[in-house]
Amino acid sequence: MLIIFGFRSKVSQIIVMVFHCPSCNNQVANPLYRIRRYFTLFFLPVFPVSTKYTLVCTMCNSRRIISKADAEVLINSERSHPQSPLTQVRPGTSAVPPDLGSFPDKEN
Ligand SMILES: [Zn+2]
Repeated sequence: MLIIFGFRSKVSQIIVMVFHCPSCNNQVANPLYRIRRYFTLFFLPVFPVSTKYTLVCTMCNSRRIISKADAEVLINSERSHPQSPLTQVRPGTSAVPPDLGSFPDKEN
């Protein structure tokens, strides 16, 4: 019998917070992502084997991996005291409208 197994990562955006970024020194939106690595059986995720939390600066794209405890503190503080309209963005959606960059630069 052939058994196909492997690993797959699932990335989900949990919240968006406005922080001072230590890399680019800007006060910018930082989405918090949860990256879960799953053991898969016949390409179906069965159970998570690891979970990482990472903050990504939307200005310079720098990534900071934070602990689960730190992530939970951020999530709880954000849900009880929302900082900005950016945080109204639902998980899984982008803070920036996807068609923002598709406008023509000049109108003729
Ligand atoms: Zn930055």
